[in-house]
Amino acid sequence: MVTIDADRLETHAASLLRALGAPAKTTEDVATSLVDADRKGHTSHGVLRIPTYGQMIADGVLVPDAEPEVTTTDGPTAVVDGCGAFGHVVGRTAVETLAERSAQYGLATVGIRNATHLGRIGEWAERLAERELCFLSFVHTSGGGLVVAPAGSTTRRFSTNPITAAVPTFDKLPFPLVLDMATSQVAHGKLDAAEANGRPLPPEWAVTADGEPLTDPEQMGEFRDGDTWGAIRPLGGTTAGHKGTGLAVMAELFAGLLGGGPVAGQRDPDAWFTNGAFFMAIDPTQFSDREQMAAQVEAFVDHFRAADPHPEVAVGDAASGSTPLLPGEAEHRTAQNRAEEGIPLPDRVVDQLASLAVEHDIEDPFAGQ
Ligand code: NAD
Repeated sequence: MVTIDADRLETHAASLLRALGAPAKTTEDVATSLVDADRKGHTSHGVLRIPTYGQMIADGVLVPDAEPEVTTTDGPTAVVDGCGAFGHVVGRTAVETLAERSAQYGLATVGIRNATHLGRIGEWAERLAERELCFLSFVHTSGGGLVVAPAGSTTRRFSTNPITAAVPTFDKLPFPLVLDMATSQVAHGKLDAAEANGRPLPPEWAVTADGEPLTDPEQMGEFRDGDTWGAIRPLGGTTAGHKGTGLAVMAELFAGLLGGGPVAGQRDPDAWFTNGAFFMAIDPTQFSDREQMAAQVEAFVDHFRAADPHPEVAVGDAASGSTPLLPGEAEHRTAQNRAEEGIPLPDRVVDQLASLAVEHDIEDPFAGQ
């Protein structure tokens, strides 16, 4: 493990992205978002993605200098076509469209297609909740990169189809409440993290093609390896996987129907993924008084925090820490710690970024560490 200061990591990420052909403003935006994910504990959505973005560019599915196109209607709806641009640029466009139009209409929605990789969806939720807007989203991968099996099956039918919701906290907490979760037992990146750290998977996370618990992460194969490999179980696992299955179906179809991209079943499931989504922002002051809502948030948070942590009740294998936290709190705490202590990156990620730096003849900030 190597620990690196966030600013230094961001400068390095921007140089690598520049070397991959992204224009200056895009490199800044994408590097900021990737390091933001690393700061908040989501290594799976941080700088480790840069080599994958390089492959997507080489394969023509990510166009580094593309710009999203926005089509609006007379009402509160809009469509954002990412046109294959970096997803972090598409996410910013969606956020600005929602903020502008919810100010006009009280709420606003966007359907998103061709967004490549929108990254950590919680970033878009946080940006809107910090403007005191509520947020809801459903995301899919337009039929490619499927890794999750429905309850009762081992066949990959879904992506990890995240659902994200956010509520502003009206200065009553130092962070917005952001639930940002895959509808599978765990996001795919958590399997990669276990593999990078040489740890077995808990048996509830994934299943082999033969229906056995998959505990060796190497048996999972890659994103585009097809059904002969394992699959991630839906949220709820062997106890209530039907609920995760239902959430994934809804995320797939909300994102696909309203985003306008192909859904699972309309493309080769081993094709490259490209995110599509449905995002919605709501101005809560259209429904209620700000002071009243601030008091409601405060009362609820006090009530929640009064729950006693019980040492024998597990919070879950994939949770951050071992106590109940509010949605978004784990990310807030991790960001605070990492601002002081720096960002830990697994050796494998450091090696991959170092190779990319050598390939593009740019300075490697990890050299000698
Ligand atoms: P996770 O399991 O790490 O966190 C899920 C939620 O649980 C978060 O809101 C978090 O704040 C909360 N949480 C964490 N610890 C907790 C605790 N102790 N008590 C209570 N709540 C707690 O998230 P995940 O499902 O692994 O997803 C990781 C990231 O992957 C997300 O940011 C998601 O947007 C992203 N993702 C993106 C895509 C894509 O296609 N772009 C696909 C899947 C996932």
